Formats: sequence, structure tokens, C-alpha cells
Amino acid sequence: MIVADKKPIEEIIDIVKDFRRLLVLGCNECVTVCEAGGKKEVGILASTLRMYFMSQGHEARVDEVTLERQCDHEYLEEIRNVIDQYDAVVSLACGVGVQFMAEKYHDTPVYPGVNTCFLGATEQRGIWTERCQACGQCILAYTGGICPVSRCAKRLLNGPCGGSTNGKCEISKEIDCAWQLIIDRLKSLGRLDDYEKIFAIKDWSTDRAGGPRKVVREDVQI
Ligand code: SF4
Ligand code: SF4
Repeated sequence: MIVADKKPIEEIIDIVKDFRRLLVLGCNECVTVCEAGGKKEVGILASTLRMYFMSQGHEARVDEVTLERQCDHEYLEEIRNVIDQYDAVVSLACGVGVQFMAEKYHDTPVYPGVNTCFLGATEQRGIWTERCQACGQCILAYTGGICPVSRCAKRLLNGPCGGSTNGKCEISKEIDCAWQLIIDRLKSLGRLDDYEKIFAIKDWSTDRAGGPRKVVREDVQI
């Protein structure tokens, strides 16, 4: 899932303090799971903003809506009839949702209420860790299911770098060396042959040709 973290309230207040009709817009997907932008966080942020405006002696309207998703036209349409009632939107979706929202309603300022961090997993409640950088050419089949792009500090496709000590990365004694993990896992799977495979440097001219990437699936297009 996409993991996000809450923005400091001071930063959000600084962005919206001059508006008087605000919509705080949550998302029911990833940001709900990582407890940064779901219905609960929308309620807390909206209440905090109301208290702020009250403390400043300003009359302000702060409404709350949480959509199923903000990265989908279909769900964003649900607020079309009310969007003109607001001076600005604080979106608690990931950066994708914020941008999609801003594109769809380009007459209304849309501001991010969270910091989008990475693609990760829930280790336990309150702890999320990175697992994927969406590189577009997945090599997990050959690396024992451990991603060197997101888990090696140097993003090495052919490791280790020689800096690891006792299985830990040279950047920190707290962080496992991803390539040590890969070798250990391949060993335990009896697949050390996969370690012999040399990966070519990623060709970002094609992987990232022209900037933002696009996936086109003709088989599912309407
Ligand atoms: S290799 Fe790593 S970054 Fe690339 S798609 Fe696979 S898991 Fe994601
Ligand atoms: S010590 Fe391991 S994880 Fe750290 S940069 Fe080197 S290969 Fe990557």
C-alpha cells in the first residue's frame, strides 16, 4: 500500500488560515490503513481547524467528507455538486489523490494534508516499512523475494557493496543489509544460482521515458 504520514498541524494551518470555507477530504484506502488520512483523521483535523479558527475569532466552516478513493474519477464525482461551496480543500489522500483531485476541480485550490512516503507494509500498528519503489521491472523472482531497489541503501542491483558488517548495512547497525538478506534467503531456498545472475543497469531513458510513467492495458479498457 501507499504509506503516508500526517503533516504537522502548524504546516496545515499556515496553508489554510486565510480561507473561511474548507473541505477536509479523506480517502478510505491506503491512508486509512496507515491511519493518516481516513475518516477518523479527517474528523480530528477538521475539529482542530475549527478550534483554531474559533481561537482566532474567525467564523469559518470546516466540513468533512471521506471518499472511497481519490485516485478514481468515479468517486471524485461524488463531490461535484458541493465543491463550489468551498474556498479550498485539504486532501488527506496520497499525492496521487491530491493531484487527481486538483486536476478534476481546477478552480478550487487543493492542498495536501499528509506527506506521502513510500510503498510499504504494516509491520505492526504504528510501524510501516518500505518494500517497493515501483521501479517498473520487478526482479524479486531472482532476489529471493527481497527488493534491493527499496531495501539496499545504494539501490544496488548487484550486491553486496562490501560495506556490510555482521549482516548490517554500513549506514546503520539497525538496518539489515538487503543483499545479505537476499543471499541468506536464496541459500535457504536452494536457489543460489539466481545470485549468479548479473542485472544490467536500469535504462531510465526507457523506464522513465518522457517523465511520468503510464500503464496501458488494452484488455481491460472499455
Ligand atoms: S524490484 Fe523492487 S522496486 Fe522494482 S517492482 Fe520489484 S519490488 Fe518494486
Ligand atoms: S551494506 Fe548492503 S544494504 Fe547497505 S548499501 Fe551495501 S549492499 Fe546495500
